[in-house]
Amino acid sequence: MTKPATKIEIYCEECGSVNITRDACASWDVLTQQWEFVDVYDYMSCADCGSECIEEREYHKRTAHPLHGLWDGNSAETLD
Ligand SMILES: [Zn+2]
Repeated sequence: MTKPATKIEIYCEECGSVNITRDACASWDVLTQQWEFVDVYDYMSCADCGSECIEEREYHKRTAHPLHGLWDGNSAETLD
């Protein structure tokens, strides 16, 4: 069993967002009719503020909402 006991989440060190995107390469698989990942690159950035200061930490359900990414102590951010 190589599955880790704890989940991690990727987050932006600048604004606290968990809305992080990562560059990847995909190719079309005609058999599955889906884009299949060929490679995932190192470059990550925050989709909210554009920062490249991306970190990872242990995931706790109480600190992040799966849809809104709310943070303890820093959840007053509003979306325009
Ligand atoms: Zn950010």
